[in-house]
Amino acid sequence: MTETPPRTVVAWHAQPPDAVKRQLDSPESGLTTTEAESRLKIHGPNQLASAKPRHPVLRFLAQFHNLLLYLMTAAGIITALLGHWVDAGVLWGAVFINGVIGFVQEGKAENALAAIRGMLAPQATVVRDGQRQLLDAANLVPGDRVLIAAGDRIPADLRLVRTRELRIDEASLTGESLAIEKSVDAVQADATLGDRSCMAYAGTLAVGGAGAGVVVATGLNTELGRITRLISGVESVTTPLMRRINDFSVRLAIFILGFAALTFAFGVLWRGYPIPDMFMMAVALVASAIPEGLPAIMTVILALGVQRMARQRAVIRRLPAVETLGSVTVICSDKTGTLTRNEMTVQKLVTAAGSYEISGVGYAPEGHITALDGQTAKVDEQHLVPAVQAGMLCNDSTLEQHDGGWRIVGDPTEGALLVLGRKAGLSEAALSAHWPRLDSIPFESDNRYMATHHRDTAGTDWIFVKGAPERVLAMCRTQLGNGGETPVDVDYWRRMANDIAGRGLRLLAVARKAARPRSGLLSAADMEDGFTMLGLTGIIDPPRTEAIEAVAHCHAAGIRVKMITGDHADTARAVGAQLGIGVGKPAVTGAEIAVMDDAALQRVVSDIDIFARASPEHKLRLVQALQRNGEIVAMTGDGVNDAPALKRADVGVAMGLNGTDAAREASDMTLTDDNFATIAAAVREGRAVYDNLRKFILFMLPTNGGEALAVVAALLLGFTLPLTPAQVLWINIVTAGTLGIALAFDAPDSDVMQRSPRPPDESLLTAFFVWRTVFVSILMATGALTLFQYALRSGAPLEVARTMAVNTIVLCEVVYLLNSRRLRHSILDREGLFGNHWALLTMGISVLFQQLYVYWPPMQALFGSAALSPAQWMLTLGAALVLFFGVEAEKAVLARIGPKPGSGRAPVA
Ligand code: ADP
Ligand code: MG
Repeated sequence: MTETPPRTVVAWHAQPPDAVKRQLDSPESGLTTTEAESRLKIHGPNQLASAKPRHPVLRFLAQFHNLLLYLMTAAGIITALLGHWVDAGVLWGAVFINGVIGFVQEGKAENALAAIRGMLAPQATVVRDGQRQLLDAANLVPGDRVLIAAGDRIPADLRLVRTRELRIDEASLTGESLAIEKSVDAVQADATLGDRSCMAYAGTLAVGGAGAGVVVATGLNTELGRITRLISGVESVTTPLMRRINDFSVRLAIFILGFAALTFAFGVLWRGYPIPDMFMMAVALVASAIPEGLPAIMTVILALGVQRMARQRAVIRRLPAVETLGSVTVICSDKTGTLTRNEMTVQKLVTAAGSYEISGVGYAPEGHITALDGQTAKVDEQHLVPAVQAGMLCNDSTLEQHDGGWRIVGDPTEGALLVLGRKAGLSEAALSAHWPRLDSIPFESDNRYMATHHRDTAGTDWIFVKGAPERVLAMCRTQLGNGGETPVDVDYWRRMANDIAGRGLRLLAVARKAARPRSGLLSAADMEDGFTMLGLTGIIDPPRTEAIEAVAHCHAAGIRVKMITGDHADTARAVGAQLGIGVGKPAVTGAEIAVMDDAALQRVVSDIDIFARASPEHKLRLVQALQRNGEIVAMTGDGVNDAPALKRADVGVAMGLNGTDAAREASDMTLTDDNFATIAAAVREGRAVYDNLRKFILFMLPTNGGEALAVVAALLLGFTLPLTPAQVLWINIVTAGTLGIALAFDAPDSDVMQRSPRPPDESLLTAFFVWRTVFVSILMATGALTLFQYALRSGAPLEVARTMAVNTIVLCEVVYLLNSRRLRHSILDREGLFGNHWALLTMGISVLFQQLYVYWPPMQALFGSAALSPAQWMLTLGAALVLFFGVEAEKAVLARIGPKPGSGRAPVA
């Protein structure tokens, strides 16, 4: 570890920006990579020490802190006091094995979650070697130039050197919930944290505007590091469903205790068994029926689900989302980049004097601009060039050639305009030399425009704007055509816009005016009027092929897909039609939503699937309206203003590539590929997680039940007991702890996306569960008792008869594990029988242990077991097969007559 240098307290906030830059040796072009690397060695990574993992010994001991295991341990102590050392040993052995399994599995679960937290590591935009680049925030060093945009989490302590309406929410540091307006002016040296308006502190959140700052402190030297010196990061592994299952297992334990007490009373009072024997039996029953493995298995199933989702690029931030995903009924998705590829190409350009088609696809600047009459356009100085230039100047993206291909750094919508410019033979470098930029208003989806202020080499001030046509048109008084400026023909532009949008193209208008910002700095007041309309572009953004498929899968799974976009309604509908969203239905716009009351909106959302020209605040209202309709909503978002809707949604989904930190932190899940298909994949996994939990419970209940029933039935019928207490405990060890875990590894059933969503409050113990538990318990107990009696009658010693009973029950559980892989469908196919390697492995291990139990003399001495003849083996195996095929037959019958599973809504046609 590198030694952290002593913290020198410098009042950076009291010094002017230039002094700070000088002292930290931070040139305008940023640090060089070599310099940054050497500083990183001195200052160490920009990280707060993550929470120390618990010591393994403590983690192991924590496994035993569990009511069910306390019960088992207590039973062991009582048993020992009664002098039954073998039974006590077996009981404690069971407790111990459970602890080990829990320990190992929880370790795996924690590793899986830790790996996923690593995927969420924060990033920062910095200038280094004269270029802006995205870095892991851990690599920041003092002197680095950091660029801040709305929605960013500030990555280190910064002295601001440039601000543009930068507002920062410092609640995480100062508790002050109002965002603070920032500026670059130095403040008093003794100003409190909250008053240091020229500083941006690590961990706070930029909620508006933009800025740049020089890193003055990193890692533990930041204010955040100083105050907290620890990070809570480690999320506890619990979800509502897990709590419900925990409650359920405690209630089950109480029921089992009561049941065992009754058995005890009955055996002693009615049948006259000796009290110590009967007591031991009761203890054994309790110990074997208690679902002590349940808490561990839940953790494993959830963690495996989270891991599988991460592999499919859906990173879970909050565990409860795993199970909520399984019951999602509506997915509201952004259009651009999520449903579409976000690979923008300008296909159409309209000026006041004519329409043009642009050839070429993607970002390669190869293609031609043709007029509608088929002539290659002379790049006409009068009107075409200004339109193209405006799009290139009012632009924050850059076009790069990379490994032979072309790519955009920045917003693809803007990148497309650069490509257009190159196709017209213009170059960004020449343009920006001629029109140096002085100021800008960045694009925000609430405003739907971006503006820049330039001063050309002749000394004239220009303001350029580009944005949604309605917005831009409203600012224009004139238009530029062949004969110079004429009054703007609003109808003409509207017609052109509708025409372009109807083809599914994204619209962008450009305009300019020769003027100087009124207040010196560009502001909304400059954007009201006086502009000259230059042109309209139509940009294609094709749907993702995998999204088309995913939408279809969602529909089959009873999940509605709604598109929410800032684009024009016609563009949205045309793209929606290609995706199968909202086909044949109108789109509703943000303006229309704004005038609806909640009741009206509630009616509209149940029918309409496309919302266009919608802003983030509409998203929140949409989520609320859907929830009032009883829907479980997943909602995507990327901007700062999306955070409220993401928080409110049942599953907030943030974009990992293009999203802001604010959106990510408000979300439950992050998509590392920003792809709609990934949401559908996560829903599928979410359903599988719930399925696997149910499978495990429905495996566990009857296996415990069958054992208990065999003993109780023997008591009631006055038979010799088919199992001794130690044998009951043996069965518990060899099966309960090991077999069921395999179910956690089950892949999603092939039909998970053909069912309707699960009602979120669906009870675990449905009538079906009770029925299956009773059915399997009876088959198992009958098999064991019958063979036991048969062996006794045919003159076998009691030991052999009991060994047959134990063998029957163990084999029944082994085969029933396969049955349990599908709750309601036959498993009699290749995948069903052999699809889960873990199942085959644990089954093999159980059978192996059972061999030891039957044939190994020390075991025989310990448990009173005896060797079986091959014929006797076959008989017990036969009983197991009866159970196996019995359950398969039951599934077939139920499929015909029984109530349909998941009584929820019908799939969307
Ligand atoms: P979405 O993400 O749903 O496509 P946006 O809010 O990004 O919606 O865009 C809405 C509209 O704003 C677009 O149709 C376009 O007219 C305009 N727009 C989009 N990006 C920019 C930008 N970078 N600069 C100016 N205007 C833009
Ligand atoms: Mg967008």
